[in-house]
Amino acid sequence: MKVAIFGGTFDPIHQGHMVTAEQVMGELNLSRVVFVPGGIPPHKEASSVRASAEDRFDMVEAAVEGNERFSVDRVEVDAGRPMHSVETVQILKERSPGDEWYFISGADEVSNLLAWKDPDRLLEEVVMVAATRPGYDLSRLDHLEAGLRNFDRIFPVECTRVDISATGIRRRLLQGKSIRYLVPEGVHWIISDRRLYEGDEKRSGQGGRLKEETR
Ligand code: ATP
Repeated sequence: MKVAIFGGTFDPIHQGHMVTAEQVMGELNLSRVVFVPGGIPPHKEASSVRASAEDRFDMVEAAVEGNERFSVDRVEVDAGRPMHSVETVQILKERSPGDEWYFISGADEVSNLLAWKDPDRLLEEVVMVAATRPGYDLSRLDHLEAGLRNFDRIFPVECTRVDISATGIRRRLLQGKSIRYLVPEGVHWIISDRRLYEGDEKRSGQGGRLKEETR
């Protein structure tokens, strides 16, 4: 089976993530997509992550509900410490070694791949799917060729460009604006019910926040 890991902060998960996962699954004929909330990409300050790991996990769980090919994994949430993607991938692969593994990431993140831990080893473990995202041209991946032995394991996929970001959603919430339809219905419900992202202060919920220098 062809399986993809979709890692992200998911603070919160939004329709841009859902459309990307669905379309990559279709393009590559994947059987499953496993969402792995937890990691903080290198360009993000740990302090910029607003919701607790448990709240972010619950939101991803609500988002994937109803799609039998989508699931969420607690590996990074339960680790309680920063995890690099190369480590996460190895753990998930060990559980299901017969599968062929992919890793989905936005082209914006992939263009930063040289800052991730052991990018060439990661590319030995998985095919890196670089999904298009508004504002990030795939040509911005060209510079990676010189720095990576396994550059040919990066596979760009053109997805419908959905101009939604978690930052934009948090900003709207701070401004008291509606985010309905920007996130899946169940995620919207959790955000309102738990009053996530309302204050400027970080929440200090259960599960804590993961700090990570590189993915
Ligand atoms: P933030 O605005 O806080 O940077 P984000 O919206 O980028 O957050 P992440 O959880 O950091 O959300 O994203 C996880 C992965 O999904 C990343 O690889 C990112 O590039 C990708 N991604 C996020 N939003 C989109 C989108 N609208 N279209 C395509 N890919 C996306």
